[in-house]
Amino acid sequence: MDQCVIVDVHGRMVLDSRGKPTVEAVVRLKGGCEASAIAPSGASKGKHEAAELRDGDKARFRGLGVNKAVYNVSTAIADALKGIDARDQYTVDATMIELDGTATKSIMGANATTAVSLAVAKAAACCAGLPLYKYIGGIRARVMPVPLMNILNGGVHAGNQLDFQEFLIAPIGAASYSEALRMGVEIYWALRDLLRERYGESSINVGDEGGFAPPMKKPEEALDALLEAIHLAGYTAGTQVALGIDAAASQIYDSEAGKYTLADKTLGREELIEYYEKLVADYPIRYLEDPLQEEDFEGFSTLTSSIGGKVLVVGDDIYTTNVRLLEKGLRVGATNAVLVKVNQVGTLIETMDFVRTARRAGLRAVISHRSGETEDTSIADLAVGLSTGLIKTGAPARGERTAKYNRLLRIEEELGEAALFLGADALRPCGIQAPKK
Ligand code: PGA
Ligand code: ZN
Repeated sequence: MDQCVIVDVHGRMVLDSRGKPTVEAVVRLKGGCEASAIAPSGASKGKHEAAELRDGDKARFRGLGVNKAVYNVSTAIADALKGIDARDQYTVDATMIELDGTATKSIMGANATTAVSLAVAKAAACCAGLPLYKYIGGIRARVMPVPLMNILNGGVHAGNQLDFQEFLIAPIGAASYSEALRMGVEIYWALRDLLRERYGESSINVGDEGGFAPPMKKPEEALDALLEAIHLAGYTAGTQVALGIDAAASQIYDSEAGKYTLADKTLGREELIEYYEKLVADYPIRYLEDPLQEEDFEGFSTLTSSIGGKVLVVGDDIYTTNVRLLEKGLRVGATNAVLVKVNQVGTLIETMDFVRTARRAGLRAVISHRSGETEDTSIADLAVGLSTGLIKTGAPARGERTAKYNRLLRIEEELGEAALFLGADALRPCGIQAPKK
């Protein structure tokens, strides 16, 4: 069975959803299977993310070209991987890690290794005669994720004055993924109608992740609009649809002053924590990502001990899909959930190690897109393959976001009766019992 042996790895430049160059890798196996994958790219990146290799040549793409990373894929990485069985993902990823030799993959580029790692997994799935989610999860891959839909954008993803980056809805009352998606779409449209009426035509322009970017300032304004949209669409906030926030707080933190800026006010860490406590008491918020700046593990654990019984406190920038940082977080109980982005660390195996470490410690894991995305739908398969029960992949708008939602529709159809949907249970912090009906 040497049909699954890698015979060729090829890199090329393609564009992401912001028009920025990114890396596509194509992997060919001896038996004829061929698969490709594309690295996404973030805008509000964590400090400890693996390094995206950019050319820096200001004369091309303002320095954002990826010729070096593409070249690495087709030369050094290709040479190192040829002859390895694609199903041996560990050896593939370990080989790239060793070849690069740095902690941040700065020589090969994490954009190069991410694309190759995912393309190898897809090619191996093809060779095994399985869809990617089944190749990853086997017969356990049956849990369809609850979509955490970012339908109102702020922060660095939008040109408005909202400081928090994302306002999300989670249709937890649905009986299936497709029903949750339909609910999310209906709420998204209701939000569009009410924003247009209240703030005018320009308010329905969308941000990088497809959510609207209305001229609002205060988080409460955004949350109230979501509640209204949920109601207008005919649903009940709280029981049927939960709310979520990604504050991306590192972006509003001034490290010299040690203060946060929120809706023109300056807040210290304690004040911000108190603000969140009030917010989750006043609104049906069940998901709170990056509430504090990425280095404040202590602040995270204070907040998790106070609201972590009913809200998922999710670490994105604080961990950057890195097991070492997660272990540091686990020691202090920093969060009760983690965000998972393959390109933050650069390989599939490291990503899976991160998810396993989190879940063994009783944390929820959320598979996530980046603000710079492409038509690549690997994360949809990853969410089902790893049975995380949760995915964050933007609004139901913009092709690069709907590509993931549509891939999940296809997976659900393929699973048929075997498909599971956890609804509210997926968002419940581990160890917290479901309320008695
Ligand atoms: P990014 O942000 O992809 O722009 O880094 C997404 C997030 O913070 O979750
Ligand atoms: Zn985030």
